[in-house]
Amino acid sequence: MFQKNIPLKKYSNYRIGGNATHFFESGDLESVIQAVAKADAEKLPVFILGGGTNLLINDAGYAGLVLKPKFLGIKREGDFLRVGSGTSMEELVHYAAENGLAGLEWAGGLPGEVGGAVRGNAGAFGGEIKDSIHEVFTLDFSHPVSKMTCHTNKDCNFGYRDSAFKSGTKAGREVILEAVFKLNPGNKYDLQKVVDEKITWRKTRQPLDYPNIGSIFKNVDFKTVPKQWQTNPEFLSKLKTDPFPVIPTAYLIDQAGLKGVSSGGAIISQKHPNFIVNSLHASSDDVKNLINLVKSEVKAKFGITLEEEVIFV
Ligand SMILES: Cc1cc2nc3c(=O)[nH]c(=O)nc-3n(C[C@H](O)[C@H](O)[C@H](O)COP(=O)(O)OP(=O)(O)OC[C@H]3O[C@@H](n4cnc5c(N)ncnc54)[C@H](O)[C@@H]3O)c2cc1C
Repeated sequence: MFQKNIPLKKYSNYRIGGNATHFFESGDLESVIQAVAKADAEKLPVFILGGGTNLLINDAGYAGLVLKPKFLGIKREGDFLRVGSGTSMEELVHYAAENGLAGLEWAGGLPGEVGGAVRGNAGAFGGEIKDSIHEVFTLDFSHPVSKMTCHTNKDCNFGYRDSAFKSGTKAGREVILEAVFKLNPGNKYDLQKVVDEKITWRKTRQPLDYPNIGSIFKNVDFKTVPKQWQTNPEFLSKLKTDPFPVIPTAYLIDQAGLKGVSSGGAIISQKHPNFIVNSLHASSDDVKNLINLVKSEVKAKFGITLEEEVIFV
């Protein structure tokens, strides 16, 4: 049932990564249940792949099963939307605005799929996925016999770019199948206008012409910034809400003089220095070299330890 030696590069927004020894893609629940059972029987580790917009996949590839759930579609039930986890965020945001449902406009231009966004509690412009999640349905395969589970918003234990699916005891052993969003009535033209503004903002500020995986590092919680910087007027002028007060990591990287620095085919973007772009056939090591460089330079200059937002596969 599994495909063998499938190049992951083509599933990665970075266009980086080696082969998966085993690969399975399906939007049929029974087949996905069989796939995780077979992987367990063969003692294969399982990695769940979404839109590949947040992943740095190693050139050595993945020795195990890469499972790509493909549950698609949006169903409206009053102010609720029942959405398959493989649906793109772009389609969801467009559908909500078109149908006069407010709450997801902040996600205009957010790449990736609903499953990935729920797992990482994706957010931007002060909004987060958790703000409109009502329920999440998963296939829990942490036990010998997998089972369907319904999680309320509270059960999901959402935090800053975090959730129970990311750092709970069953992290990586639950396939998000479907999410139910609770939205509010709104004017479809006003909603679309806000969505368009967010898309334009991203196009203007982010290096979208090159393969990338978004911001490499999380922004820095202002509370954790060393005291001498907390009173620095320039630092204070950079404060933004995301969704609590943070110092943008892009500013720290810029101040560390790292804009435009390259390693092989990877470059720290001039346009948005928290992005490392794949400008010319970059390897995963090229990107890792720059990640390590940024971490050590920012630590040396500001005493701040950066934390990666992207996932290493
Ligand atoms: C240009 C650009 C801009 C970005 N801007 C933002 C931003 O503003 N805010 C933000 O938060 N992020 C941003 N990102 C990062 C990324 O888009 C989000 O994190 C996105 O939600 C990841 O979704 P994905 O489907 O691509 O997940 P993937 O990258 O495929 O996977 C991410 C993680 O989710 C898990 N996963 C995926 N699908 C499922 C599923 N169905 N069930 C269980 N686990 C699953 C994977 O195992 C992996 O651990 C940006 C990325 C890019 C390229």
